[in-house]
Amino acid sequence: MYDFPTNRHTLFVKITVDTILRELKLLYPKADCTLDWRTPLELLVATILAAQCTDKRVNQVGKTLFVKYKTPQDYLKVSQEELEVDVHTCGSFRMKARAIQESCQTIINRYDEKVPRSMEKMLTLRGVGRKTAAVVLGTAFGVTAGIPIDTHNIRLLNRLGVVKTKNQDKIELQMMEATPKKDWLKLSHLLVAHGRAVCTAHNRDCSNCPFQEDCPSSQTRGRSDKSK
Ligand code: SF4
Repeated sequence: MYDFPTNRHTLFVKITVDTILRELKLLYPKADCTLDWRTPLELLVATILAAQCTDKRVNQVGKTLFVKYKTPQDYLKVSQEELEVDVHTCGSFRMKARAIQESCQTIINRYDEKVPRSMEKMLTLRGVGRKTAAVVLGTAFGVTAGIPIDTHNIRLLNRLGVVKTKNQDKIELQMMEATPKKDWLKLSHLLVAHGRAVCTAHNRDCSNCPFQEDCPSSQTRGRSDKSK
């Protein structure tokens, strides 16, 4: 008699980007950037501060920071030490204060005092990598120039078996090829939402996840997490 396989590892269906977009759009119809901002400069500063920090904390700091600093010049009127004190609760405050001031200097010197609108120019700003640039360009200007790959994106895409690398640049390239351009920013926001609500770094609520039947990592419940 034929033995049907009982190990679900042999049965899972590869999850596609289309499936991820479809399911997560249903779950998180309002998924969007969760940083508070009113001007492109505020969003740029908030995104620099958000590295290794929660958006909630950055939004709290922004409440007073963006009253004191409104223009690129405002950030250069104070010493680096003073700005460090103003942003210290976001962590890595020396590096972040320096990145903000040097970015503002470049914006004044090279970009007519305005946050630039292209990936190439954004990457000339200190402390701005492709992730930050893609967030600012897509959110503030509606310019789709990349997919912001953050820690939630890396974790989720690996657990779902869509990618098999933790390298941010490789993941972004792979996802840009697999995702319709109109959904680049949305995909990132949706994965962040799911990574915060259901598939967190320390807890996977697979029973409440739309991918539980096909996700290769859901079959490792109760065993060591090989995807971490
Ligand atoms: S099935 Fe589990 S491991 Fe897979 S994405 Fe959902 S919560 Fe994460």
